[in-house]
Amino acid sequence: MIDIRHLTKRYGRTTAVDDLTFTVRPGHVTAFLGPNGAGKSTTMRLMLGLDRPTAGEVRIDGKAYQDDRRPLHQVGAMLEGRSTHPGRSAYHHLLWMAQSNRIPRVRVQQVLEMVGLADAARRRTGGYSLGMTQRLGIAAALLGDPPVLLLDEPVNGLDPEGIVWIRHLLKDLAAQGRTVFVSSHFMAETALTAQHLVVIGRGRLLADTTVDDLVGDSGSLEDAFIRLIGATR
Ligand code: ADP
Ligand code: MG
Repeated sequence: MIDIRHLTKRYGRTTAVDDLTFTVRPGHVTAFLGPNGAGKSTTMRLMLGLDRPTAGEVRIDGKAYQDDRRPLHQVGAMLEGRSTHPGRSAYHHLLWMAQSNRIPRVRVQQVLEMVGLADAARRRTGGYSLGMTQRLGIAAALLGDPPVLLLDEPVNGLDPEGIVWIRHLLKDLAAQGRTVFVSSHFMAETALTAQHLVVIGRGRLLADTTVDDLVGDSGSLEDAFIRLIGATR
């Protein structure tokens, strides 16, 4: 379970995250939605302790993330941007992560198979497509078999087949009782994957609701979302 209380982050005059309070629960996929610049990535960096809040706090299963000695076993994360050395293979990237977290070598092969990269695992990651890079990021997040997963825009760069694949993967991980928190600026796709939605705009909470309640009888998720975001302009 992830608890965010009055979380605020300012960069100079920009308030990237503005007094956010919400809880992400295990057992279903929670989508973290908002247009570009809404503060999703900043919130996720704060959740991981990679950036310091101006105010408020994040607790993951009751603890601040940095307090954990074996972080990959507590939270698996994929953040924005390429985080591999381009000359290194996927296998060696994951092996290095595994070894620094005392995860057995056999787990590297397992996660490569889970994300469909087993055949490409020995190639240097510098030659990977965006979709392959996303799959590698997901493999890295799964390495420690964590109960909590944070994925920042994992659908970016995936082809239609990859999008269907990730939808099933996220649902399966949640059905296993994990907490799955996944950001996106794509609305329609999200209704098919997530049961719960946290929507932000300009750093502020706009909705913390189920997909069914947000859509209601007023048409599509897309329409509901446009109405919500429109309210902040
Ligand atoms: P999202 O992921 O929803 O697109 P971000 O969290 O990346 O949004 O950005 C939210 C706001 O915070 C934007 O206005 C962005 O320019 C600003 N911002 C994010 N990171 C920094 C930073 N390191 N320094 C200054 N401003 C930042
Ligand atoms: Mg972002």
